[in-house]
Amino acid sequence: MFEDLRDLYQEVIFDHNRNPRNFRVMADANRQVEGFNPLCGDRLTLFLKIDDHVITDASFQGSGCAISTASVSLMTEIVKGKTETEADALFTQFHEMTTGKAEHIDLEAIGKLAVLAGVREYPARVKCATLAWHTLDAALKNQASSISTE
Ligand code: ZN
Repeated sequence: MFEDLRDLYQEVIFDHNRNPRNFRVMADANRQVEGFNPLCGDRLTLFLKIDDHVITDASFQGSGCAISTASVSLMTEIVKGKTETEADALFTQFHEMTTGKAEHIDLEAIGKLAVLAGVREYPARVKCATLAWHTLDAALKNQASSISTE
C-alpha cells in the first residue's frame, strides 16, 4: 500500500517536472520575485496577479531540478483563486510538512502538495521543495525582488 502511494507521488512529481503548469511570463503581473537555491542551483521567477487580496493568476519561469520544478508547478496551481491569507497559511503548512515539524498534516487543505511530503527524508532536497514557497512568501509580503534560500 505504502509503496503504491509512493509510486503515485513520484508519478505526480515526474508529470509536473515534464509538463510544468503555468510556465510562462506574465505580462500584467503586479508581483514578481526571483528565487534562488544555491545549494542545488534552482532558479525561478514567480509572477503573481493579485486583485483585492485574491491571487487571480500565478505563473513562473526558470530552471531547476525535478523537485523544485514540480513544487513551483503545483504551487502555482493551488494558490490560484486563494486569498493572500489562505496562501500564507498554505506556506506555513507546506513548510511544516517538508521540515517534519507537522505532527498532523491537514490532507484536505494541502491536497496534491502531499506528494512532496517525502522530501522530509532527504534534508538536502527540502530547500528544492520550499524554494517556490519562500518566493511566494516574499511576493505576498511585497518587500524584496529576490530571495535566496541560503
Ligand atoms: Zn533542487
